[in-house]
Amino acid sequence: MQNSSLLELDRKHLIHPVANYRDHEKKGVTLLASGKGAYLTDSNGHELLDAFSGLWCVNVGYGQQSVVDAATAQMNRLPYATGYFGFGSEPAVELAAKLVEYAPASLQHVYFTLGGSDAVDSAIRFITYYYNAIGQPDRKQFIALSRGYHGSSTIGSGLTALPVFHKNFNMPGAYQHHIPSPYAYRSDVGHDPAALIQRSVQSLKDKVAELGADKVAAFFCEPIQGSGGVIVPPVGWLKAMQLACRELGILFVVDEVITGFGRTGPLFACEAEDVQPDLMTVAKGLTAGYAPMGAVLMSDAVYTAIADGAASGTPVGHGHTYSAHPVSAAVGLEVLRLYHEGGLLANGVALEPVFSGGLKDLLAHPLVGDARSRGLLGALELVADKSSKRQFDPSLKLHERISTAAYAEGLVFRAFGDNILGFAPALCYTADDFALLFTRLRKVLDTVLAQPEVRQS
Ligand code: PMP
Repeated sequence: MQNSSLLELDRKHLIHPVANYRDHEKKGVTLLASGKGAYLTDSNGHELLDAFSGLWCVNVGYGQQSVVDAATAQMNRLPYATGYFGFGSEPAVELAAKLVEYAPASLQHVYFTLGGSDAVDSAIRFITYYYNAIGQPDRKQFIALSRGYHGSSTIGSGLTALPVFHKNFNMPGAYQHHIPSPYAYRSDVGHDPAALIQRSVQSLKDKVAELGADKVAAFFCEPIQGSGGVIVPPVGWLKAMQLACRELGILFVVDEVITGFGRTGPLFACEAEDVQPDLMTVAKGLTAGYAPMGAVLMSDAVYTAIADGAASGTPVGHGHTYSAHPVSAAVGLEVLRLYHEGGLLANGVALEPVFSGGLKDLLAHPLVGDARSRGLLGALELVADKSSKRQFDPSLKLHERISTAAYAEGLVFRAFGDNILGFAPALCYTADDFALLFTRLRKVLDTVLAQPEVRQS
């Protein structure tokens, strides 16, 4: 079909995720046509270096033939197997076992979903069931971090703490609460790790005391907040939050949807600090975007309470047609092999200094107020004035100027509305790919800075 007809059909019929629908109708869609390694080509033949791994998910890069072969072989053998009424499939069982092998030792059981939002939703439902099963039905309050993102499902969107996910959706619910984010750059305690950690621990304790010690079910957090602007807490923060949850007697849930699968260096961010969550949600890098899949992993204690709570002959009423989809599971197994035997985790770790160094070098640029990263997950924060950290006037739409300039330079990353630029390059990046990323990124920043409205603001 002609490009122009597709643009028109997109305008008329396709609703895009988290989009300003009227703006989108005006601008139209950019159709991505193919990908190889770290590079995408759109339907106009324009080549783009993808510095965001699609949507923080294509961690193995595009065009990995062995993943395509694994999916094809499974589709030929058996494209679908239900997990209902006692059935299952080989790749799903193998993938569950592999995840348990690699995940923190506290996690023993896996429920597969289609992505991250339903993994979070499943976690919430399992936790609710768990507390009812152990005779603590009053534990109904959930706590998460401000600037957190836990998906856009009906309940999970209330744990998310970004205004666009709440406005007009009547969220968050009365049982969903947020404590401040450990956002060093804009915190009044600055980059002092001990003070940031202490602040979060105290906020959690205060919130639990306010809600009632026997009323709180769980605390949810991302090891590094992704969609909230790549907020990187100090080393030791995640472990301190785990210890606080244990002390408070509430469940500790780590959302590794972005941070999992090598994004921060190890397979899971929890590994770096020997963190042992009660539940963990994953998606994205699990199948590297080659097929949809997420999962919630849980401890034996949570699983056992749920299993025993249902022992009266009634099933646990939680299920999805595509839970443990065999094609996604086959993809997941091959992707896991690429991270380990394929050397991608090692490559990501080896090139981390190139990535973090490149971001830090840009601190010298007049637009850049902060540069932060862990592993291959990073951000630049653009400010109108470095000493006061003053943000640009929203009417300037700086993030849109940045995205336009990035496209023209052949670069894809995520420019958030508050002028934080998020980067999540694939683990298959080479040193040359990084060199090109930073050459193009510098040009993007220079182009935008040269615009009179930006220079004068
Ligand atoms: N949790 C986190 C931490 C996420 O970053 C995301 C997606 N960006 C989700 C949950 C939701 O995942 P999905 O978009 O696959 O539903």
